[in-house]
Amino acid sequence: MIRAVLFDLDDTLYGDFSTCDRLGLQAAGQYAAAHAGIPAARAEEAMRRGRLMLHEACPDEPESHDRTLFAKWGLEWLGVNPLPYACGMHAAYWEAVLGAMQRREGVLELLTALHTGGIPVGVCTNMMADIQMQKLCRLQLSEVCGLLITSEEAGRDKPHAPIFHLAVKRLGVPAQDTLMVGDNFNHDVRGALGAGLQAMWLNVRGDPLPVAGTPAYVATSFPDAAQQILQLCGLSGTRQE
Ligand SMILES: [Mg+2]
Repeated sequence: MIRAVLFDLDDTLYGDFSTCDRLGLQAAGQYAAAHAGIPAARAEEAMRRGRLMLHEACPDEPESHDRTLFAKWGLEWLGVNPLPYACGMHAAYWEAVLGAMQRREGVLELLTALHTGGIPVGVCTNMMADIQMQKLCRLQLSEVCGLLITSEEAGRDKPHAPIFHLAVKRLGVPAQDTLMVGDNFNHDVRGALGAGLQAMWLNVRGDPLPVAGTPAYVATSFPDAAQQILQLCGLSGTRQE
């Protein structure tokens, strides 16, 4: 029996992140064009470059997700002083992402059913806490998503164990009775299994299982995941309205 459920956020509770990210980078580029006089496409490319350099410099560290740093490193790469522009590019990026997110079908209903059924729930996500809070509010999930546990608080990204250990401690349920649900096989499935949790892979693209024999549940859509989760939690009689 599963007694607590953790969800990844990006590309799990909403989709799709790559479209949101593309629109965010475009918006940041447009901001730089308007305020720094850099061609928008060039500024966008610089932000992508900043992201790559940051990921290389501090892999799996929470600050590697900071869009202010993407912009800062990118503008420095262009030879432009980032101080007047990096924070504005960060804000433009996130405003575009927040506006483009689409909550997955059945998410609100599942979280409400778990909440009503007394199952502790959390969101376990690689990112800074402030932006993930804004996303959950914008997705209208802030009242039903339970605890937010970010890698910023754990000090290390998934798939490393500290964030899972922190999450189960905060939920107050043993790791082996806790299910982690997410779209990223390495972060959400291998990471959770490695930390002693159970795992469900949300595989909406129908990708082949990367590691044969992985003892994980697999769902092909969010409604499929919801049905399985309710059953695993002993709430399958719960009507989803
Ligand atoms: Mg994800």
